[in-house]
Amino acid sequence: MSKFLIRIDKKTLRRNPHAGATRRFIPGPIITYEDGSQESERIEVSGPAPNWLYEFEDTEVECGECHKRFSFRRLLDDEDCEGNRFEVCPECGEEDCCDIIFETPAEAFKRKD
Ligand SMILES: [Zn+2]
Repeated sequence: MSKFLIRIDKKTLRRNPHAGATRRFIPGPIITYEDGSQESERIEVSGPAPNWLYEFEDTEVECGECHKRFSFRRLLDDEDCEGNRFEVCPECGEEDCCDIIFETPAEAFKRKD
């Protein structure tokens, strides 16, 4: 099965100002009041915040079964009964259609390009 490395888009890689916080708020849906004023609801998230914030490059992967190419974002996730995750092809429905590896921030920093 082909392996694809999904690289971090370094332009988006930045230190999380809330790194390590265990209780934080993120902006939620906008609420509009009867008088027309608006406020963004704040949603509480628990669990340690990651040290880095980033997005992945939009990378093409290829299905090992039907050989169609598409963005990794179109892959469907599924899980077997033991909780192992695998990637399902959005074109032919093949389970475990390719192997994708996500780059870590440490790897992105080492990379020269
Ligand atoms: Zn396929």
